[in-house]
Amino acid sequence: MIQPPGNCPVCKRIDFVQKVSALYHNSFSTTTELQTSTTFVSSVTGSDSAGNPTYGSVPQTTYSTVPVTHQTRLGALLNPPQLKKIPLPVGEKIILWLCPVLAIALYVGPASLFPHLFGRSGTNPAIALVLLVIFSMCGLSIGLPVLLGFLTHRVFFRRANEHRRELQQHEQEHWQSLLRQWEQFCYCSRCDCVFSSGDEKAVPPQQLQRLYSSG
Ligand SMILES: [Zn+2]
Repeated sequence: MIQPPGNCPVCKRIDFVQKVSALYHNSFSTTTELQTSTTFVSSVTGSDSAGNPTYGSVPQTTYSTVPVTHQTRLGALLNPPQLKKIPLPVGEKIILWLCPVLAIALYVGPASLFPHLFGRSGTNPAIALVLLVIFSMCGLSIGLPVLLGFLTHRVFFRRANEHRRELQQHEQEHWQSLLRQWEQFCYCSRCDCVFSSGDEKAVPPQQLQRLYSSG
């Protein structure tokens, strides 16, 4: 349950106290900023001795407005806890990256093995045969990498992924506990300190991490 802001443990008053979550959410602002960019355009720059115009590139500055999001310095100090993602096993990542490469290799490979089937007039193979080869190439180049990806995730790295899911679950619970604590945090702008509602411990915003209890 999220408690309302309580008295500041330093000045014992509530009049300058705000919830950290509200301060954080209001710490973003978007403004439009003027951006200049220079492009070179070809233009007549003079004339040569024969009277013909000469061309050269002339810098031209264009102005445009772009939206830029800012965060106040205080808001950045009061960031909520971030959920850590447990990465895939390295070996699995490498194999999954190789799958598209395998797909391309399987697709391109047979095409170079059977050049007589493709585009050379004279041999004139049966259309059905060409289609069969193309279909089997597509099937191989999609099917095999998909199969490899599936086996990698479900078979070769099954144990590693079960362990990873457990870690992720643990990390998720830890993050939720930190988030519940963060939602109780308050900030007193008179004392420039952060504290948890109903707690006597107060720290400067730079040391927000010290407010979390590991329980
Ligand atoms: Zn205070």
